[in-house]
Amino acid sequence: MSRLNARQIEQLRLALQGKRATLQQAVRAELAYGEQAPYAAILEEVSDEGDRATAATTADFDNEIARRHGAALREIDAALERIGDHRYGSCDDCGADIGFARLTAFPTATRCVDCQRRREHVHAHEATPSL
Ligand SMILES: [Zn+2]
Repeated sequence: MSRLNARQIEQLRLALQGKRATLQQAVRAELAYGEQAPYAAILEEVSDEGDRATAATTADFDNEIARRHGAALREIDAALERIGDHRYGSCDDCGADIGFARLTAFPTATRCVDCQRRREHVHAHEATPSL
């Protein structure tokens, strides 16, 4: 057993909070950009269908980035919540310790390496390397 000690948890908590601040800044910048160049205004400015399509694609792309940032923020919040509940660092699937090294690389990890691998194996059929 290698339960996380208080100092390791504190280090991971700081890493999560740092990531959270960076993401929030990015989201704020995206929102500010959205106010400067609202999607509707972009559509009005463009004349032909080709430009219209480009504007739509750009807006979709911005939405996709915002959606991903939102999902990442939720993952970080969930991890911080687990720290608060003293559930952090245990595998969701088998309850084993996820381990400090893995959490340092992926502070939002909710599964141990074995369970994560099993999941990826189940879900990704073409994962077998074809050399
Ligand atoms: Zn596990």
